Amino acid sequence: MVECWPYPEAEKSESMRTITLEEHFATPDFLKATMPLVPAGRVNFVQAVESKLLDLGQGRIAEMDAAGIDVQVLSLTGNGMDLLDGPTATALARDANDKLDAAVRAHPKRFAAFAALALQNPEKAAAEFERCVRKLGFKGALVHGTTKGMFLDDPQFTPLFEAAQALDVPIYLHPSPPPKPVQEAYFGGLPGQVGFFLATAAWGWHVETGTHCLRLMASGLFDRFPKLRIIIGHMGEDLPFSIARAEMILSRDSKHLQRRVGEYFQEHFYITTSGYFTVPPFLCTLQVIGADRILFSVDYPYSPNAAGRNFLNALPVSPEDLGKISHGNAERLLKL
Ligand code: MN
Repeated sequence: MVECWPYPEAEKSESMRTITLEEHFATPDFLKATMPLVPAGRVNFVQAVESKLLDLGQGRIAEMDAAGIDVQVLSLTGNGMDLLDGPTATALARDANDKLDAAVRAHPKRFAAFAALALQNPEKAAAEFERCVRKLGFKGALVHGTTKGMFLDDPQFTPLFEAAQALDVPIYLHPSPPPKPVQEAYFGGLPGQVGFFLATAAWGWHVETGTHCLRLMASGLFDRFPKLRIIIGHMGEDLPFSIARAEMILSRDSKHLQRRVGEYFQEHFYITTSGYFTVPPFLCTLQVIGADRILFSVDYPYSPNAAGRNFLNALPVSPEDLGKISHGNAERLLKL
């Protein structure tokens, strides 16, 4: 179904390098362990692109070539890592990281990697993060939403941020289905799969990720970790539209913060275009955070490479800003 959207072929401009940062894969063992735990809507969504998720070789590269995508920074797809028990999740994350490492070594000019982490045990996750960056050369980590219903501002996750800052790499905060009580209260009682999609990619998990980011800012996390950098997808998870008002209201009771909420947003966050291929939200993001912090991404295989590439080609920006968005910012942020 996802593949059948009537997107035209991508027009390629051979001269412009393109790097994408929210591109997903899966391992058979990870899907086997998590598919029984996720809602039926999610199962359908993943099964529609399962063969593409599992392909870390020629099929994936052919699809990149067809749309003029030079480098994918790969991450394990979100599919309920947080629903597994700690030891199982830790083992599956490590195995996924090793398989991803092998793919990057086989295709070092086409792939780079974000680590998968099992945050049920933050200390072990931090150790795996360090192994992936120091030993395997990964460029950061990608985390999916809450773990056991807890947001990352909870003190138990401090080791994750200590590791990111010490390793000098960013954390990509990716959406994840909302906790069950939220799904039922906000998205229940709707026909067919409408509730599931409204809870996830149509709306809910973007709002949740934006909320998650506001919690990180409002909790004072960035005062404790002044070098921490967070990447978020989906044109900023609705934050560019709303950050000024959030700051205005939050400033009434944020004496514990060293800086304004909007300053944390503009200095600690990077935003990718994953799955958001229309101009109005892009222009809002450009005006709020600037071309130095916007990075081209697709969200492959859930979004088609051609859709992303055509959007990139049509962006109403200068050639200089286009170069930053297509590859320059990624090269700098990830040391590619
Ligand atoms: Mn994604």
